[in-house]
Amino acid sequence: MERPLNSTVISRRDYILVGALGLILGLVVIAVLFIVTPMLSPLAFLSSGFLGTPLFTIGFLLVLGLIALAEFPLMFYTLVRLARQAAPTWFQLTMHAAYTFFPAIYGALGTILTGENWWLGVMALLGVMRFFSSAVGINPPALAAHEAKKQKKQLEGQDGGQSVEASPPSVKALPTIGPDALAPADYSFFQKPVQSQVRPLSSIKGYILDMDGVLYHGERARDGAIAFAEYLNRHQIPYVCLSNNASQTRAHFGEKLERLGIPLRAERVIGAAQATAEWLAQRAPVGARILVVGEPALGEELTRVGFTLVEKAPADYVVVGVDFHLTYEKLKEATLAIRQRAVFIGTNPDLTYPSEEGIVPGNGSQLAYLQAATGKAPTLVGKPQVAMMEVALTHLGLPANQAAMVGDRLDTDIQGGKNVGMTTIFLLGGVTTMNELAASTLKPDYVMDDLAALQDELEKI
Ligand SMILES: [Mg+2]
Repeated sequence: MERPLNSTVISRRDYILVGALGLILGLVVIAVLFIVTPMLSPLAFLSSGFLGTPLFTIGFLLVLGLIALAEFPLMFYTLVRLARQAAPTWFQLTMHAAYTFFPAIYGALGTILTGENWWLGVMALLGVMRFFSSAVGINPPALAAHEAKKQKKQLEGQDGGQSVEASPPSVKALPTIGPDALAPADYSFFQKPVQSQVRPLSSIKGYILDMDGVLYHGERARDGAIAFAEYLNRHQIPYVCLSNNASQTRAHFGEKLERLGIPLRAERVIGAAQATAEWLAQRAPVGARILVVGEPALGEELTRVGFTLVEKAPADYVVVGVDFHLTYEKLKEATLAIRQRAVFIGTNPDLTYPSEEGIVPGNGSQLAYLQAATGKAPTLVGKPQVAMMEVALTHLGLPANQAAMVGDRLDTDIQGGKNVGMTTIFLLGGVTTMNELAASTLKPDYVMDDLAALQDELEKI
């Protein structure tokens, strides 16, 4: 039972004091009656006829005594219940005073109506018994604490039991590590114990290249990246550059490649914003209303494929990418739309990403916020999801078994490549260290120092 707002736990001392007050008042009433009853008894209307006979007197007092005895345990039980539920203080104290005072009423009733003085003595004894029973047997703070503990246990039992499915996930239950931790459990493809044979590099007809960590580090081209790009161009080998970054458009990525002197074409670049837009365009009708939480690039890519952007619910889809200008207002509108049945989509699940200032929140952290607020998990698009890998393969124009995924992260690039059955080439010197690679159960097909090493291997063929 819910605890009333005005309740406080009564100290045992106050409880006993109030009970004693009730008893003393009752004994005073009994003492006064003891003195005045002999003077009143001649006036008692029960003193004449049948009502005045000893048979009636005994019968009447017997019934009164039985009522008093029956009511004794009933009142005691009520007081225990009130203490357990931490009922309002004033109510508990009044009830306890009444409990110890009541025998005086039975005494007055019996003695005044029958003129029997000894009845007052019996009721005085009953009053004292009642006081001791509650003073010894009822400890309000202990009973309230016991009950609260019991209720907490029951609630915890429910959380761990079946009711957890019906309620939204608690914040505690949210994943704290791993970029794919928020993904709906749809890794069946990878989880199948497929014994894939490592294909020779000579069978690879095209490459999907991760960008940050493979082609460049921040604002610096990686060793061998420019030469490898020239090698691809020279031999007209198909390639796609693939980034989980959803804050940039294809044009932005193209500008960066040009700035760093890496001769790869902008139209071969796919970022998470574009991949999400293209993937969604295959599934949602043109003109569908999309509420975007993200950088302008994400909105631009979604508009480019024919969707209508809205800023408030109702929306058909809520698409969330990393937003460097995130506000409560945006999160609120997204929450309302998702709760009104908009489909919840995340461009990529990376919880954090490295910046010059240290590790900062990534899109996965935004998704975790919305998941906590809505109780719904997003559908994810970015690496290592099959969705993004399939968009990339479509642009590459090759089947997965003729393509290689080149990346510096096991959990996104290598996992993504394996999810669609591509050959995987892991480059050292990026986010994942050699030690992490050794400890991981996820093993890439090839491990190389950089793109120069890959080029050396290819030129040997
Ligand atoms: Mg990378």
